[in-house]
Amino acid sequence: MEKKVVLPITDENGYYQIRLESIGGLGANLCGKMLGELGLKYLGLNSVSFSSYGSEKKGTPVKGYIRYSAADLDIKLHSPIKNPHLLVVFHDALLSDPSVLKGCESGTDIIVNTVNGKELQKTFGAEKYHCVYSLDAQKIAIETKSRINVVMLGAMAKVMGFVELKDLNEICKDSLGKKYPASLSQNIDGIRRGYEEVDIAFENGGGKDRNCKGNATKEKDCKSVQESVDCNRDVLIWGYETAPIGGINTCFGNSVVNDLSPSRQGYFPVFIPEKCINCGLCDTTCPDMVFQFQKGEFKGREMMVNKGLDYYHCKGCLRCVDVCPVHALVSGVEAEHPDKKYFMPNQELLRKPGNYEKAGYDGYITSEAFLTEQRMKGGEV
Ligand code: SF4
Ligand code: SF4
Repeated sequence: MEKKVVLPITDENGYYQIRLESIGGLGANLCGKMLGELGLKYLGLNSVSFSSYGSEKKGTPVKGYIRYSAADLDIKLHSPIKNPHLLVVFHDALLSDPSVLKGCESGTDIIVNTVNGKELQKTFGAEKYHCVYSLDAQKIAIETKSRINVVMLGAMAKVMGFVELKDLNEICKDSLGKKYPASLSQNIDGIRRGYEEVDIAFENGGGKDRNCKGNATKEKDCKSVQESVDCNRDVLIWGYETAPIGGINTCFGNSVVNDLSPSRQGYFPVFIPEKCINCGLCDTTCPDMVFQFQKGEFKGREMMVNKGLDYYHCKGCLRCVDVCPVHALVSGVEAEHPDKKYFMPNQELLRKPGNYEKAGYDGYITSEAFLTEQRMKGGEV
């Protein structure tokens, strides 16, 4: 008999709504598609899923939207989801942008991929009436050799409470199993670990006391997170009258701030200058102006010399590692290189200090390597 899931909570239109907040490269788009298919094929629901993203494959903000409804109710709304029942944040650095939490209201569950769920307490303010969950999806993805998106899928199934792990495995076989059969078992492992390891981020709020775990969506008396983070701003801060000259957008992946560090998935290029022959292949390959060449001397000849990398712009695609003919660039685990020895700020942007003052390899937001470094120094992060 075909399964028909009963949605535990819906809005006034009869829809259960999920919003994914991510950065290009973390797989949120595919994750949204899988959730959409899952609803139709294995849950006996109607579903719609779509995403919005920038022109680049990595680094730009990505939002995914998924709506579920009962099988006998058509989904006629195809606009972005403003008030999600479940908000899924694929990287905790995104929480520095208040618009990410916009529209969260009573009953919204939030899952955050972060290394330290306890830190979330600071972000969400003093009062905790929401069910806020966390997991270290990056670590799980590295350990299982899967991807962050499948780990987050497992966590979502657990928190939503109406998706069984076996259904998620089936959709994974249908989708990823066809595309990447060799890594199917790793992806299924990633889903399972996400399902098992997602946990309530703080215990003194609407989480354990209200028995939210597993069926959090049944709880409707949570106080809105808006009250503590003041993020429900319907008025745009920047309009044509108030935006700085040039209309610079300070979100991830724009031309000036262009902080791509959250896109790195645990790996980054390590530079070994002694091996470098200054061929410039890395510079022509890198899409993000990471390499800093300056006039210098190599083998007695004056030429442009590779002085280092501006990791602030590096999204960790490792294309430069592939093209380097002498292995002067190798793939490294970022957490093992917290000092980033050959970091060099983008020399072009340094000439415009107003644009680049605060930037460093961890820039306006902090990568996991930077946080590790601060913790090792005993600093508060
Ligand atoms: S590709 Fe390798 S050898 Fe060539 S400049 Fe870059 S780091 Fe140096
Ligand atoms: S990994 Fe290499 S090619 Fe990719 S963004 Fe970083 S420096 Fe550029």
